[in-house]
Amino acid sequence: MIFDTKAGAPPLQSKYDICVIGSGPAGITLALKLAEGGKRVVLLEAGGRDFTSESQEIYESDNLGFEFQSTDISRLRYLGGTSGHWTGRCLLLDPSDFEVRDDIPLSGWPIGFNDILPYQAEAAEILGVTNFDRGRTPLDDTGILDIVEQRFSSEHKFGNVFGSESRRFGTYYYSALSESKAIDVVLNANLTEFSLDSATGRFAHARYQDYSQNFYEIRADIFILAMGGIENSRFMLQLNEAQNDRFGNQNDMVGRCFMDHLRLPLGVYFITKRLYSNSPNWEFARLLRRIIPQIALSPSPDFARKNKILNGVIRLDRLHRRPLNEKEIGTSEFMRNLRYDSDYFFVGQSIASSEHAPNPDSRVVLTEKLDKFGLKKLGMDVQITPKDIETMRRVALETAEYFVRSGLGRMQVNSAMWEHGSPEDMELDFSMHAMGGLRMTETPETGVVDANCRVHGAQNLYVAGSGVFPTSGMANPTFTIVQLALRLADHLLVRTS
Ligand SMILES: Cc1cc2nc3c(=O)[nH]c(=O)nc-3n(C[C@H](O)[C@H](O)[C@H](O)COP(=O)(O)OP(=O)(O)OC[C@H]3O[C@@H](n4cnc5c(N)ncnc54)[C@H](O)[C@@H]3O)c2cc1C
Repeated sequence: MIFDTKAGAPPLQSKYDICVIGSGPAGITLALKLAEGGKRVVLLEAGGRDFTSESQEIYESDNLGFEFQSTDISRLRYLGGTSGHWTGRCLLLDPSDFEVRDDIPLSGWPIGFNDILPYQAEAAEILGVTNFDRGRTPLDDTGILDIVEQRFSSEHKFGNVFGSESRRFGTYYYSALSESKAIDVVLNANLTEFSLDSATGRFAHARYQDYSQNFYEIRADIFILAMGGIENSRFMLQLNEAQNDRFGNQNDMVGRCFMDHLRLPLGVYFITKRLYSNSPNWEFARLLRRIIPQIALSPSPDFARKNKILNGVIRLDRLHRRPLNEKEIGTSEFMRNLRYDSDYFFVGQSIASSEHAPNPDSRVVLTEKLDKFGLKKLGMDVQITPKDIETMRRVALETAEYFVRSGLGRMQVNSAMWEHGSPEDMELDFSMHAMGGLRMTETPETGVVDANCRVHGAQNLYVAGSGVFPTSGMANPTFTIVQLALRLADHLLVRTS
């Protein structure tokens, strides 16, 4: 059933097995899977069925570090969450992303690639991904770069990279939620706090508010925060302020190691006639015919280790059959002298996207301003390290060299990359993939949740979403979010059976 606090107090049960808070891909996956396993679930959602500014404005934040995207634009606060405007690209993390890398402090997950692999097929079904495979193959025998095929979340995506349909969880799963006898959804229900039972040490109630200042309480055996990569951290910071840092914040780790995928336009690439007519490489042949999936090049794990860089990727965006324009030529004499139709035939833009190093100084914090529910507003203190920039630089230069070596064509790498410019001088941007802040670790020394996503120090509080990622890899996060949500559901079904 779906209830809405706008219609009055919802007629809920006195107690549920599990209370999930937040109805994005993580929360809806959990609710459906837990209900399928026989649990009674209540799903609290802060927004309504559609966008409203009264809900969305709670997502506003102050920017305290490197200029970050507006968090009220990069997230959506209504049924289905940010899947309401995601692009639908799905990619798996690499096995090496889970490993400890000696030159990357705080790297390594307490689980491995194989721990979430069993959930791949089910996650693909939930996200509507067709023909999903790992799609990563060595580009040549140097073993330096791998080709990554970006696959998209539905058949519709195959003809069109941007702007076509992606699975919107709020609409796609609306009927399943409203028809479920095991799930009660409450819309316009803003989680504000938990009450702790001091006798048992367990969280007993979740308290939530509607937009008319009415308060409600709901009892459950288990609570799962699924409010998105940033909001889960914000809530956990508030909770710990009231609870003497007992829950995952024993070592001041809540909100720390916040990460996003860094994006940087690198410059232009073009493909020569010889390769156009004579390419030995089917992937490039497909690119030239403009067939999606899009082509992306990534450093191989060996190359990344040897060069002490992070994971990363260069996307070769669409090619155009046209002469280079003034902006693309820039100050390069070489580019100016190239002749369209004899020296080259296709031009495209290349964009680097890098893993963001886990850095305790890159943080989600609370400010002293209060929102309409009396909770402290969000501050984003995002930091960039030299390794983040060096990763994009090395991958860009390696790709440019590969173009020359293989005779594919040429790539003009923006001068900021050559000149070791500071991040502030670059057209650096983020990908709206909020990760970290509530890292998954064996112990509370370096993180917030354990390998089963249970908050360190809590008996019945769990976290779902990309906040738990200890490192960010180069893959878009939602596929992994859904795999982890399915794994958490399995864990809870076994634990509570
Ligand atoms: C423009 C854009 C493009 C993207 N493209 C891609 C892509 O191509 N591939 C990819 O993998 N990822 C992409 N993403 C990221 C993707 O959208 C997120 O990874 C995904 O939505 C996260 O799912 P989630 O369930 O963890 O959080 P969300 O989807 O953010 O859901 C959180 C839910 O919690 C609710 N909530 C918040 N606070 C409260 C509260 N106090 N009480 C109750 N409920 C609350 C919210 O209303 C929301 O419904 C993109 C993001 C953006 C912005």
